[in-house]
Amino acid sequence: MKFADAEESYEDAKFVIFGIPYEDAEMSFRKGASFAPEHIRYESWNYESYDLRNNFDLSKAKINDAGNFSLLEGKKFLNKVISEGKIPIIMGGAHSISPFILPGDAGVVILDAHLDFREEYLGDKNSHACAARRIFEKVGKENIISFGIRSACREEIEDAKKIGFKHFYAWDFKSQMAEEIKFDKIFLSIDMDVFDPCFAPGVSNPEPFGLGYEIFDFIKIISKKVIAMDIVEVCPPYDDGRTSLLAARIIRDFISFKNF
Ligand code: MN
Ligand code: MN
Repeated sequence: MKFADAEESYEDAKFVIFGIPYEDAEMSFRKGASFAPEHIRYESWNYESYDLRNNFDLSKAKINDAGNFSLLEGKKFLNKVISEGKIPIIMGGAHSISPFILPGDAGVVILDAHLDFREEYLGDKNSHACAARRIFEKVGKENIISFGIRSACREEIEDAKKIGFKHFYAWDFKSQMAEEIKFDKIFLSIDMDVFDPCFAPGVSNPEPFGLGYEIFDFIKIISKKVIAMDIVEVCPPYDDGRTSLLAARIIRDFISFKNF
């Protein structure tokens, strides 16, 4: 199954959606993020092609669905898509995919309930619980910023403050905080657990007191600068469809925002 309205050929596409159905051997709580791409594709068919709020028809947006890739092939493909002037939209998978696939020349904006700043988790430096730490090491402290945080272990929050990982808590979040982002080209990484579990119950590590639809306003503000986006940590075995439905909606609205 293809993502809805993704009828364009790769060559003529402006947006290229693809899946990387990869999750860690040891997910910290719930397994199943690798099933997410197919579920997000399925739920995408719920929506009208016409986006009423943004007055934009997604059937005219030149979207290609390139299918699913392994982690390694996905990284190569992402670079190809960017180098050809197209905008990649990646459906995870666990958050561990983001530092691995990240292209070199963009600043990174993370939306996440969790700090993901552990040096390692259960002996694994490439765990989803270390995603922000690995990205921080790759892009440097001036080129990463995280929003929606409401969970961390004591060591990682102390590390983050000590070495300058810029992060903002969920209880302070406002869409206007997009002004804190100081770089021009953005890789946007959305861990779906940034939403409150009542909006997105089917995630690997649900965390109450989360965010709601104000996230869409935030994405709208930064969308012009976004050169690539991933959506990770949807966990279909624990979902009633709501979380995949919301992930599909983010993808669709992002495409509308880019055309706005
Ligand atoms: Mn995460
Ligand atoms: Mn998270």
